[in-house]
Amino acid sequence: MWLAVLSTVCLLPGCLALPLPGDTKDMSQAQDYLRRFYSSNSKAKDVNDFEVKLKKMQKFFHLPITGILNSHVIEIMQKPRCGVPDVAEYSLFPESPKWTSKVVTYRITSYTRDMSPVVVNQLVAKAFEMWSKEIPLRFKRIRWGVADIMIGFARGAHGDAYPFDGPGHILAHAFAPGPGLGGDAHFDKDEFWTDGSKIGINFLFAATHEFGHSLGLGHSSDPNAVMFPTYGNGDPQDFRLSQDDIEGIQKLYGNTHCFK
Ligand SMILES: [Zn+2]
Ligand SMILES: [Zn+2]
Repeated sequence: MWLAVLSTVCLLPGCLALPLPGDTKDMSQAQDYLRRFYSSNSKAKDVNDFEVKLKKMQKFFHLPITGILNSHVIEIMQKPRCGVPDVAEYSLFPESPKWTSKVVTYRITSYTRDMSPVVVNQLVAKAFEMWSKEIPLRFKRIRWGVADIMIGFARGAHGDAYPFDGPGHILAHAFAPGPGLGGDAHFDKDEFWTDGSKIGINFLFAATHEFGHSLGLGHSSDPNAVMFPTYGNGDPQDFRLSQDDIEGIQKLYGNTHCFK
């Protein structure tokens, strides 16, 4: 089982200014970022570990692959993004996990104060619809018991191995299909979530991204894809699945619509 996270850094008002320049601080932030999002399953810790990971990151973001930290790289590292690693450990991906039933259940177990439960319910349904339009899979909301995809808002440590981090940075995460935590999507309660009518994190966009993970998609390096790891590349108010997202999900589930 593996994890997907959405994180923000600079979306919040007052957060547009980058941290004060400081090589040590930049370096330790970069190390933390690479450890979090670009760890491989290699046990070997050689001196070039940083450079190797940095090159992977630069490749993912279509940057010049220099292995050298510069201000542009740091800027990308500070962008709001999903917390799911871009290079997952192979052991976390035994084989492309996916749901095998044609109806997948979900349940919303907790809410945010930022939007009414009715709005959250509508946006969750809409996010699932983005995906179900493209594949022969239906989503059914249940109100009690254990659903395939359990959805909730939580802050800080919340019962899995991936505590949230307060406002900014990590926004949400979700687990690939499977039993237990598999498929579940968690949203950081400390973000300010919106339906698009206010400044904040667009919940529909974040939910659509996280449910992509819940269905088995990893991150895309296509900046136009909803599954791109950073938040807010395009206009989250007016987005749709990209061709890349559609190809990815159809690769897992097919594209027939005969179950509709
Ligand atoms: Zn993600
Ligand atoms: Zn969680």
